[in-house]
Amino acid sequence: LNRRLAEFGTTIFAEMSALAARTGSINLGQGFPDTDGPEEVREAAVRALRDGHGNQYPPGPGVPELRTAIADHQRARYGLEYDPDREVLVTAGATEAIAAALLALVEPGDEVIALEPYYDSYAACVAMAGGTRVPVTLRPHEGRYVLDLDELRAAVTPRTRLILLNTPHNPTGTVLTRAELTAVAELAVERDLLVVTDEVYEHLVFDDAEHLPLATFPGMRDRTVTIGSAGKTYSFTGWKVGWTTASPELTAAVRSAKQFLTYVSSGPFQYAVAEALRLPDSYYDGLRADLQAKRDLLSDGLARAGFTVYRPRGTYFVTTDIRPLGADDGFAFCRSLPERAGVVAIPNAVFYDHREAGAPFVRFAFCKRADVLQEAVDRLGRLG
Ligand code: PMP
Ligand code: GLN
Repeated sequence: LNRRLAEFGTTIFAEMSALAARTGSINLGQGFPDTDGPEEVREAAVRALRDGHGNQYPPGPGVPELRTAIADHQRARYGLEYDPDREVLVTAGATEAIAAALLALVEPGDEVIALEPYYDSYAACVAMAGGTRVPVTLRPHEGRYVLDLDELRAAVTPRTRLILLNTPHNPTGTVLTRAELTAVAELAVERDLLVVTDEVYEHLVFDDAEHLPLATFPGMRDRTVTIGSAGKTYSFTGWKVGWTTASPELTAAVRSAKQFLTYVSSGPFQYAVAEALRLPDSYYDGLRADLQAKRDLLSDGLARAGFTVYRPRGTYFVTTDIRPLGADDGFAFCRSLPERAGVVAIPNAVFYDHREAGAPFVRFAFCKRADVLQEAVDRLGRLG
């Protein structure tokens, strides 16, 4: 393994899912729903397979039906206009979109600012691109993880190429506010930075939280690559269909990298996702309501079990602080949790460069059936 990748080892998600399987524990570690997405979308995939739509290499940028549906979605939801032919790219999940964007836009030696804790593939992809990651730490303040705007500003140097943003944010569940995003946008314009913004949890927001795409802010449309994923929005994480929307120049750059990573993305699923993108508002309302109830079930149960809970405003993850339970090492806690309680969770420290800043935090996923969450909560309540 080369030096760029040596520090990364096996992803925590594979490690923890294997631990869950080995110990027969409830897996609240890796974030994937235990209930598949809508029946009619699955049927659309079967139809596409049967009718021979996409069984051979689809077009590199993605099938036109899907690119048009993505452009329509961005217009209808956010008032953002993208030309399906020149400004939309279909990728093999958001994971490939992140990799292709960084490989296309980062020169060796460039600095990439990422919000810490960050999704684990960010660090690996920055490294594969030969860049240097510069973490800006989100910190808990009055029950919410906040972005310190002075710290963000101070992180920019003449070598900074881009900011890698994520809202709603995994693993903290923070949804960046209008004030925070305005500051990011102003900084990007002032210092002439690109932004790659991972908005895969755009539809998973709760209470009165609102997802605001960075590309809607002044000066941002043409310096932003926005990333979405059917895995999150329609609960088909195994299909690996994601996308980017960006200016023609940025889209062409990302496509240059994508064509040599996977060439094209899986064909029949693209037709099915095109149909999913046309689901009525009631689908999204139902998804949100269902997940919000599960958020509350898990958050309340964790609080009763003694954890300090950062009740998320978005995503399907809840971050907790284990110190009230007399522990302060999330790694050790997560390694012993299967044996102690039959539950698997993720130590947030893996998402930090400043590992000590993340040490006492542990993430639980709530995209699971209510009876599964209830059982997990009952078990955690007996931790003692
Ligand atoms: N970004 C974030 C923040 C995520 O949580 C995930 C989910 N694993 C991804 C990207 C990857 O998405 P996909 O499954 O579409 O590759
Ligand atoms: N996004 C999910 C998580 O954060 C799954 C990640 C993965 O398996 N790569 O848990």
